[in-house]
Amino acid sequence: MTDGGLVARSRQALQDEFLRAAVRFTTDRLKGRKRAASDQLGHWEAWREQARAIREHTIQHLDYYLSQFAQRVRERGGQVHFARDGEEAAGIIERIVAEQSARRVVKSKSMVSEEIHINARLAQRGVEVVETDLGEFIIQLAGEMPSHIIMPCIHKNRQQIRELFVRDGADPSLGTDTQELLAYARRRLREKFLTADVGMTGCNFAIAETGSIVLFTNEGNGRMVSSLPRTHIVTMGMERILPTFADLEVMANLLPRSATGQKLTAYMSVITGPRRPGEVDGPEELHVVIIDNGRSKPLGDPEFQPILHCIRCGACLNVCPVYRHIGGHAYGSVYPGPIGAVLSPLLWDDPTYAELPYASSLCGACDEACPVKIPLHDMLVALRRRNVERGWVKAGERSAFRAFAWAFARPGRYRIAMRTARRGQVLVRRGDVIRSRLGPLAGWTVSRDFPALARESFRERYARLKNRGEV
Ligand code: SF4
Repeated sequence: MTDGGLVARSRQALQDEFLRAAVRFTTDRLKGRKRAASDQLGHWEAWREQARAIREHTIQHLDYYLSQFAQRVRERGGQVHFARDGEEAAGIIERIVAEQSARRVVKSKSMVSEEIHINARLAQRGVEVVETDLGEFIIQLAGEMPSHIIMPCIHKNRQQIRELFVRDGADPSLGTDTQELLAYARRRLREKFLTADVGMTGCNFAIAETGSIVLFTNEGNGRMVSSLPRTHIVTMGMERILPTFADLEVMANLLPRSATGQKLTAYMSVITGPRRPGEVDGPEELHVVIIDNGRSKPLGDPEFQPILHCIRCGACLNVCPVYRHIGGHAYGSVYPGPIGAVLSPLLWDDPTYAELPYASSLCGACDEACPVKIPLHDMLVALRRRNVERGWVKAGERSAFRAFAWAFARPGRYRIAMRTARRGQVLVRRGDVIRSRLGPLAGWTVSRDFPALARESFRERYARLKNRGEV
């Protein structure tokens, strides 16, 4: 675990009262809606089990379904590109955009495109990239990363949004009324849709049997992006596959309910190939960029492979006590919350992300919330163990655990250690609890009661009373 990073960002987030209230308010609403929607559907646990089985089967046969999907896309006139990492994926997209001599790209929400930092890459080449999901549009104006998988600007209020819009060119008389703000964004984005050369979307699911891309959206921007520009580029994490439309039915019941508590999103678009002769809309070219970017690392590892079952609903964020206090930016990764704390260190084998599994109370709420039953809690523990095995822990922590193991290995050593600790605690003892503002102990005691060691241990007391014949 590195110093600074996560701890420093979390401290900063904890001081931001507005951020904490906003995140709590929205996640509470999402949680409540999800509960109501799952009750309304009925047999929630049976649905979850079915979804888990589908995702497990798909990921176990990922090579087969990916190849079937790629073949079907090509049969329907689309082009498929495989990218090993973010660099390669960005390069492919840059080439397609250059071939089109495109000056403007409109995008709908896509977490995988955040992974590969495509906006910055295209901007360097003089291409204007416009996020068209309202939340992403606001975040782009603010120059920030999304702070939630589903609600990227969960941490902003209407006043802040108004200021961003005015800076973007809105009339200074713009108010903070939701309808007024929406009207500005709508007007601004409409002109972009109509003049864009390339549209870029993500992919909620890819259906192997038909080569179709499925998008769940609420604002209709996904349809504009995928049908108005003459070229459509789909960025897709390689695990997004589902074998059949029958499997999609299960996911369509779970994803919107888990994400926003809706029975179904306002739009569910199924895109199969580019525009065919006689069709009135749709792109002339469809490119699907299938991105690995670290996903093959957990593949084949029984402990971590289930992370590829994730359908990016965000439900684990909404219930996580850590996320609810610090919000998304404190994680320092594209993926925040419990899913980010597991996924980021697995995808990007980098000590920077090794500290994220410690951003958890291990309460297990994320496991219970996950619609595809990913054992996030077990993975968080396993990743902590992996850090120790790799030596990615602080020297002080390593020495402390070595001393702990030594002392607890023999009863005699344990007794000596307890006696020493009892004497040593006078320096930090305040009444019945230990309070320390210094060193690693401070991390424990700043917000928790750390009970002081009893002045006499049970064994000592028992021996004393026995000597007196009282027991
Ligand atoms: S881990 Fe589960 S709950 Fe979290 S985003 Fe993925 S599918 Fe949703």
